Amino acid sequence: MMNNKLSEIKAREIIEDFNITYPFDIYEFCYNLDIEIIEDNYNKDAYLFCENGIKCIAINNKITNINRKKFIIAHELGHYFLHGREITFACLNINEVFNRYKYIDYTEQQANEFASEILLPIYKLMQDLPNYTMKFEDIEKIANKYKVSLTFASIKCIENSKTENEILLYYKDNSLKWFSTTSIYVPLSINSLPPIGSLVSEYYRDKKVDRNIQIEKEIWDFINGYAREEIKIINSREIMVLISIEN
Ligand SMILES: [Zn+2]
Repeated sequence: MMNNKLSEIKAREIIEDFNITYPFDIYEFCYNLDIEIIEDNYNKDAYLFCENGIKCIAINNKITNINRKKFIIAHELGHYFLHGREITFACLNINEVFNRYKYIDYTEQQANEFASEILLPIYKLMQDLPNYTMKFEDIEKIANKYKVSLTFASIKCIENSKTENEILLYYKDNSLKWFSTTSIYVPLSINSLPPIGSLVSEYYRDKKVDRNIQIEKEIWDFINGYAREEIKIINSREIMVLISIEN
């Protein structure tokens, strides 16, 4: 689904104007724009400073995950291209899983949308998405091709799925934090426990699972027919679950 938000149109313009290829080397891109990237001990996630010819993105040095850093830089580039070149932004809670926890300021939202599109443009992604129901291995190929996190790639792949057969759920500390799907009705509430018998509930109970894929009719009972459950352990607290309908 191609969106026509200003932030996304701007990102596509930049991709074309600067002939950006993928995987996108955002550090080199900033270097060519004369935007310096620095890291230090700040009390926000990041800042964009553009004053008197100095252009700088400053990132909190407590943020060490490379994919999160790239998303933050892309977010600040969003402010740079969308919100004026003689301006300073101070940003908090920049996250590639944006707009799933809480309402954020409009300019912050736009910067996130820009970042999401420039790192993994939907019009390019559509050419890579399979015509069949996706598994994590399909999403992993896309995450590797674009060099983005599996979580971020998973959200974009599921939101743009050609079959619309998948649901992505994200659990943290044994409770559901968000989910993403296109057309499947998901009657699960946020902060609910995983269904008994599911792989994800088994993982939180035993801290291990001996298989990755399970096909069950009853466990994810809002699905008609067979549901295939696959889990991806992000770390001991966070797990992604991919539920797909078996055709
Ligand atoms: Zn921002």
